[in-house]
Amino acid sequence: SAKSSGRGRVEAFTSELGEIQRRRATLERELRQALARDELEVYYQPQVDLKTWTICGAEALVRWHHPDLGSISPAEFVPVAEATGLIHNIGAWVLAKASSDAKQLLPGLRIAVNASAAQVQRASFVNEVRQLLQRQELAVGQLEIEITESLLMEDVQTALENLHAIKQLGVRIALDDFGTGYSSLAYLRRFPFDKLKIDRAFIRELTSTSDARAIVRTILQLARVLGMDTVAEGVEEPAQLEVLQHVGCGSIQGFLVARPMPVQSLIQLRESWAKLPRPLFEGALPES
Ligand code: C2E
Ligand code: MG
Ligand code: MG
Ligand code: MG
Repeated sequence: SAKSSGRGRVEAFTSELGEIQRRRATLERELRQALARDELEVYYQPQVDLKTWTICGAEALVRWHHPDLGSISPAEFVPVAEATGLIHNIGAWVLAKASSDAKQLLPGLRIAVNASAAQVQRASFVNEVRQLLQRQELAVGQLEIEITESLLMEDVQTALENLHAIKQLGVRIALDDFGTGYSSLAYLRRFPFDKLKIDRAFIRELTSTSDARAIVRTILQLARVLGMDTVAEGVEEPAQLEVLQHVGCGSIQGFLVARPMPVQSLIQLRESWAKLPRPLFEGALPES
């Protein structure tokens, strides 16, 4: 009957909710142990300069390999880490690991580390960066911090002060996932961004809708006026690369170049990069 099927739906819904809550409780419990058990790792995804077709940087992306649960996506566990405050320890670990990889294994490469809004709100974050530089566990100018627009919605004053402080230390700041959030043009001027990362959503539609192309063009113009570098996120297809070269995007990051990889693989990729064929589009790249 209608009544019982309605109840069935409610029961199905409740059990699904229970499922989500159980998964979350499991992740929370296991994540508390993840650092001590050495289950976290940092992968790197290269960024390629479109003028020179060289690997100009890499984004550090945290990975969690759990012995029973398998690999868990940061898209799933970073929000859990943020909600529980574990992000401060995890973030500090990623920052230290990426710094030592950068200094010891990836000389000359700029490494971008993601920071959650909660991290940037804390003075301890600035101190972590300062100490890494003081102990020379990081080369000045090698570190870039990526933040998202959600940060701009919270305690703006503290975030602004902390970002200015780390920028004074010689750290670059990139605005991640640009174009999908709420940042006003006024914020773009108030915050000391060195780079805009154009969100994957626009790149995905770059070759199918004229809107996306117009938006990307506008973002690039804006960045140029404000003196910021640009990187397109989530570039998967040669046709997208061709458009991006045409409209003058600074650099790209995406599966077309490479997926995020362990540091040893990035070292190898850097060594073989110059010998790899590079995509050439008429007039887009200078002759070498
Ligand atoms: P994000 O910072 O925007 O990182 C880019 C994400 O896009 C990464 O997902 C990357 O693997 C993925 N990606 C790169 N190229 C392509 C492409 O061509 N196609 C598609 N479909 N995806 C691509 P990942 O590694 O799963 O990370 C997801 C998010 O988790 C990150 O988004 C970031 O917000 C967060 N995250 C990752 N590592 C950290 C970290 O160490 N700290 C903090 N606070 N957040 C992190
Ligand atoms: Mg990022
Ligand atoms: Mg992003
Ligand atoms: Mg993101």
